[in-house]
Amino acid sequence: MRSTEPPAATSSVSPCEVRHLSKRYGAHTVVDDLTFSIPRNHVVGLIGPNGAGKTTTMKMLLGLVRPSGGDISLLDQTLGEPRWGDVLKRVGSMIEAPPIYDRLTARQNLQYQSLAVSGSIDDAEIGELLRLVDLADRADDRPRGYSLGMRQRLGIAITLVGQPELVILDEPGNGLDPAGIIEIRNLMGRLPEMGTTVLVSSHQLAEVQQACDQLVILANGRTVAQGTTAQILSGRAQHIFHVTVDDSDAQRASEALRTAGFAVVDRIDTTFVIEPPRSVGGRDLNCLLASDGIYASAINQPLVSLEDAFLDLVQQPEPVHATATHTQEVA
Ligand code: ATP
Repeated sequence: MRSTEPPAATSSVSPCEVRHLSKRYGAHTVVDDLTFSIPRNHVVGLIGPNGAGKTTTMKMLLGLVRPSGGDISLLDQTLGEPRWGDVLKRVGSMIEAPPIYDRLTARQNLQYQSLAVSGSIDDAEIGELLRLVDLADRADDRPRGYSLGMRQRLGIAITLVGQPELVILDEPGNGLDPAGIIEIRNLMGRLPEMGTTVLVSSHQLAEVQQACDQLVILANGRTVAQGTTAQILSGRAQHIFHVTVDDSDAQRASEALRTAGFAVVDRIDTTFVIEPPRSVGGRDLNCLLASDGIYASAINQPLVSLEDAFLDLVQQPEPVHATATHTQEVA
């Protein structure tokens, strides 16, 4: 039965680690020397442009595509070791379409999966999973009448049978309306506290920014950045402030900022967009202006979006490597 207790970590080792992974189809290298490691009990986003190699990578993790080179470790076992088949039983997955049998009801789909995973039917777990994905009142209906969001949620419930330590979800929000996307996000967010690490691919960057606390960003089959979402965003953020003053102070504020050596990169009415050195914060700017008798009505630092960071990263001419603890760039 699924426990809602905090997970008793089976290991501090990453549940999913790839080193120098590659996949070639003929002369076409679609995954190229890919290296990343995801932390346990997090929701980790695998993002990248179309054709970056996300699905191929996930398929290699699941043994659905044979790598051309490199190493994969899942749950402390390395691909090719004798116990690899057992490891895959502890990993749930949904690649491309949810693994649903339309002639079975939702409950029967889960019972079927329960039998496949453990050799017996755990009705208590199935009841909990149906509640978790908010399908308890439709459990005895056939999924062909379900909405797309309900099918995706049933698909995720199927991947969770047997309480896997890792689930791999390929674009689970594809085609869903905003309400469906929020439901999937909330569902994924509950899994780490139950001891399940989530690796999820997505195109919806605003959604990824909210759903995932860790990211692996791919471009052209390579890792271009890896780390916490906050690290990746702060690593890409320009040090920009918007300083707004009263109309009567605008001329003097402009002079004070320039005299202090701060580049005014834009001006919108009485709001100055400035890019000071990184050591200068909003408080310093406020003090600077106040020392000239100018009282700013607002000093804001605009947030960088994952979309901006992503475009910046994937347009780099060469790969950018970052680790989970430090985001750094290699020119
Ligand atoms: P998307 O976001 O569009 O789904 P993706 O990042 O998941 O893209 P993949 O589906 O992994 O990318 O594809 C990576 C590249 O590998 C693409 O250029 C694709 O055409 C190619 N590819 C995938 N499978 C095969 C195959 N079986 N034979 C040849 N090329 C393939």
